[in-house]
Amino acid sequence: MREFNAVVLGAGGVGKSALTVRFMRNEFVESYDPTIQEEYRKTVDVDGELTWLELLDTAGAEQFTALNELYITAGRGFVLVFSLTLEASLREVTSLRQQILRIKGENSRVPMVLVGTKLDLTSEREVSRTHIEELAARWKIPVYETSAKRDWDVSPAFEDLVRQMRQY
Ligand code: GDP
Ligand code: MG
Repeated sequence: MREFNAVVLGAGGVGKSALTVRFMRNEFVESYDPTIQEEYRKTVDVDGELTWLELLDTAGAEQFTALNELYITAGRGFVLVFSLTLEASLREVTSLRQQILRIKGENSRVPMVLVGTKLDLTSEREVSRTHIEELAARWKIPVYETSAKRDWDVSPAFEDLVRQMRQY
């Protein structure tokens, strides 16, 4: 079985842990503890092929570039998480992507998905679909609008990443 490791990155409170736990354990985490950083491991079936996946759910690392640098160096694929309810959280993924490209090499194809969270919080939405589709097109990475709470489009986002990691 092939093995891949991926890192979940994004600003605090955007829903990284909820997203990761939804995918890895099929549960929704209601409580918010920004300090929890954990690694999850499981066998996933993507397109009928089993893959051993290790996901690092990072926490509170945004200010500490040295730590991010470590995760990025060690990581093969990246889930760039922002909240659809917080326009400012797009800035964090923008800078994370820049760090990733700097560390991995500007011209290398790095497996990445852009994930907007909290799609269920319709009335609190701040980020338009057009905006993120433009961003994703410019960055040439797939984007998913998800809800960890409702389990909307969570698995497809991670499966997309696994397919990319198999390919390059
Ligand atoms: P992290 O700091 O990025 O890991 O953020 P968390 O995953 O801890 O989520 C922060 C808060 O947002 C928690 O209270 C979660 O329950 C909540 N949350 C996360 N994802 C969703 C979602 O899809 N919908 C809703 N309604 N709340 C969410
Ligand atoms: Mg967290």
